[in-house]
Amino acid sequence: MTSCTDSNCLFCRIISGDEPSTTVYEDDKVLAFRDKFPAAPVHILIIPREHIATLNDTEPKHAELLGHIMLTASRLAKELDLADDGYRVVMNCNRQGGQTVYHIHLHLLGERPMRWPPG
Ligand code: AMP
Ligand code: ZN
Repeated sequence: MTSCTDSNCLFCRIISGDEPSTTVYEDDKVLAFRDKFPAAPVHILIIPREHIATLNDTEPKHAELLGHIMLTASRLAKELDLADDGYRVVMNCNRQGGQTVYHIHLHLLGERPMRWPPG
C-alpha cells in the first residue's frame, strides 16, 4: 500500500519501506509508527500516505484526510490504553513550530504528565 514516492522525504521512504519503522497501524490513507527518538513512553507518529509538506499546504480537499488522522489518534489512544489517563496530540508547522520533517505528521504522546504551555 504505497502512494507516496518522494525519495527526498524521510517519511515517504518509510511509507515505501526504504526506511525501517515500527508500524503500529496502517490503512489505505495513513500510516502510524513509533517515533525513533521518543519524547514520552508512548510516542507515535501518524502520517498521511500522500506527501503534504506542512499544515500550510493543506486545502479543503484534505478535510477528510485530516479528520481521519485525528480519528486514528483517538482510536490508537484507546487501543494503547491512554484514553482515560489522557494524552497529547501535536502537529508542528515550520521552523518556529519545531517541524523537522517536512511531511505532515501528528504526534501522539502518552504515559507521562504533559506540561502546559509546551516549551
Ligand atoms: P517534527 O519535529 O514535528 O517534524 O517531528 C519529527 C519527528 O520524527 C521527531 O519526533 C523525530 O524524533 C522523528 N523521527 C526522525 N527520524 C525518524 C525515523 N527514522 N523514524 C521514526 N521517527 C523519526
Ligand atoms: Zn513525504
